[in-house]
Amino acid sequence: MNNFNWKDIKGFFFDLDGVLVQNGVNIPGAVETLEFLHKRKIPFRILTNRTTQSLDTIHDYLQERGFPVKRKEIFSAPLAAVHYLRRKGRATCRLVMREDPKKDFAEFTMTRESPDYVIVGDLLNAWDYSILNEIFNLIMNGARLMALHKGRYWIEETGLHVDIGVFIAGLEYVSGKEALVMGKPSPDFFNLALEDIKLEPRQVAMVGDDILADISGAQRMGINGVLVLSGKYAKEHDHHYNVAPDVILPTMSEIPNLV
Ligand SMILES: [Mg+2]
Repeated sequence: MNNFNWKDIKGFFFDLDGVLVQNGVNIPGAVETLEFLHKRKIPFRILTNRTTQSLDTIHDYLQERGFPVKRKEIFSAPLAAVHYLRRKGRATCRLVMREDPKKDFAEFTMTRESPDYVIVGDLLNAWDYSILNEIFNLIMNGARLMALHKGRYWIEETGLHVDIGVFIAGLEYVSGKEALVMGKPSPDFFNLALEDIKLEPRQVAMVGDDILADISGAQRMGINGVLVLSGKYAKEHDHHYNVAPDVILPTMSEIPNLV
């Protein structure tokens, strides 16, 4: 079928929601799996599209839940945006996101009028017509639309929730301009994490529950895609995407038995 072999895997990228934690509860065995990897000196990074929280808050969240993760092992979508903007020099920004992740952008100049970039993250229930219209007008006045991610949906106990991809795609449609997308499945995001972990793509397994952002995104970069069934993945939602994971596992807790 494919050439995947656990013996080739020298490091891991883990998605957070649906892989380490689901509905606020640790996936059984997830903490122990990360402890096992530390003990075996197998490096890993957490690659999350969470955009409602700053890097410090995500780090605190994982620490409180017992995950042995260092701040520098976390790659969040806002962090990818920060790296991008640093390379661009003196860009001015307008941030459309919750307050906490704005902390990650403290080094940049903010402006409400004619920013170089309008950077959009999750607003949850705060989305409304006037916000969308404001972003639309900034784009039409020359701002580049930067999406912290373009996720489709996530799952909670109450059911499926549309993610910001619905707004990003709509803004692209009305403006005729393509957004820069920062989180998974952006190649830049995976490249940043690959440079940091110092491994070749084929030596890394991306473990995730999102068939497009995690699995397809990783595979496009030559990274192995390991789909876990502990999160939002459901065949009836995703069958039409035609993505074949390299491996499918019930949860990431299987990994110590495989590497
Ligand atoms: Mg996920």
